[in-house]
Amino acid sequence: MDDELPFACFICRKLFVDPVVTKCKHYFCEHCALKHHAKNKKCFVCNQPTLGIFNTAQEILKKMAAENK
Ligand SMILES: [Zn+2]
Ligand SMILES: [Zn+2]
Repeated sequence: MDDELPFACFICRKLFVDPVVTKCKHYFCEHCALKHHAKNKKCFVCNQPTLGIFNTAQEILKKMAAENK
């Protein structure tokens, strides 16, 4: 069971587009993460510094692929 993953971006509240994950394990669309980072260097959700680290959220991509079957 791995239902901990969110379905939607915290910023735009829509399904992820190019999902990325921060150091603090929060998920955003890449464009939302970058847009937020441009004005605020802290995570949108938990306010920890992101250090500009946005990794491709492979687990979200896998989940999305699995649900598209
Ligand atoms: Zn978004
Ligand atoms: Zn966070």
